[in-house]
Amino acid sequence: MMADLDVTALLRPHLRTTRPYSSARDEYSGEAMVFLDANENPYGSVVGGPWHRYPDPRATELRRALGGWLGVAADQVFVGNGSDEAIDLLVRAFCEPGEQRIVVTPPTYGMYRVAAESHGVGVVEVELTDAFQLDAGKVVAAIEPDCRLVFLCSPNNPTGNLLGRADVETVAAGAPGLVVLDEAYIDFAGDGASLVPDLAKLPNVVILRTFSKAWGMAAARVGAAVGHPEVIGVLDHIKLPYNLSGLAQQAALDALAHPERMLDMVGRIVAERGWLAERLAERPEVRAIHHSDANFLLVRFDDAPGTYAGLIERGVIVRDRSRVALCEGALRITVGTRDENVALLDALAEL
Ligand SMILES: *Cc1c(COP(=O)(O)O)cnc(C)c1O
Repeated sequence: MMADLDVTALLRPHLRTTRPYSSARDEYSGEAMVFLDANENPYGSVVGGPWHRYPDPRATELRRALGGWLGVAADQVFVGNGSDEAIDLLVRAFCEPGEQRIVVTPPTYGMYRVAAESHGVGVVEVELTDAFQLDAGKVVAAIEPDCRLVFLCSPNNPTGNLLGRADVETVAAGAPGLVVLDEAYIDFAGDGASLVPDLAKLPNVVILRTFSKAWGMAAARVGAAVGHPEVIGVLDHIKLPYNLSGLAQQAALDALAHPERMLDMVGRIVAERGWLAERLAERPEVRAIHHSDANFLLVRFDDAPGTYAGLIERGVIVRDRSRVALCEGALRITVGTRDENVALLDALAEL
């Protein structure tokens, strides 16, 4: 059972009365044999496969399978075109342009700000501490009545660390609106790190998950929001009718049939993360390597822009975060295969 949450009060007023677009397949449930309702090609697709029919607009099977994997009910799961779609829909549903704002805790993922700004929604920033943790009291104090969404990211991108669970819960308890907890990298953080099992106690928390990282399905573009069924219902209300293609739904279902493959790769990536961190620590130009609970390392260099440019010349691309507040001098390096990590180390040795 979910604790109470007044979703209607949080919703933008005009959405309280509008109705979602009803697709041909939405209005029908039963065992039809002849589908002449959606102007599809009756002969099939030019490439074979079941692609000539519009996909399930609700992605029912995928929600059930993902809910099963996460241990929540299917009606607590929204699936979309990457978690980026869920971020965009959350802003669109709960923030009135020009009137309401979101809260972010930099340094963090840039999409929260992009989504807000693209809808004319303001952004309140509360920096993380030097240890890249939440100052929960400071975050709660910064949440004004017009702040409808607080975006937290754990493990955080680009710093790599988990946020303290007690701090996340303090922010959730102090937020008048929703707290969006982005767990894109949670599979790399070890057992018990996710707050999904605690959602029943955290009615105003929406957790984002993605198939793009641990599952190795970035090209399929499938992400999820997990939370209170009424919040999920709101996202369904305003999403595009067929937001997730049939190919994407099938790809994600195929992935969920093989969690052991995901867990095996995560184990290898985590082991490789430790190996790479040890090797990088031996390099004279490396000043610090931050603890990572994700599949990347935030590494401080004596001359980050120079190192970044030198790596590019040698065909090794990393992410330059050196101009981001609290990340001065840092590059974000994704953990690759052993061969890729050796290529990185070789390139560094050449500089
Ligand atoms: C990579 C990443 C995502 C994933 O986004 P998708 O749209 O699902 O690919 C979400 N949040 C963070 C913080 C990320 O770094």
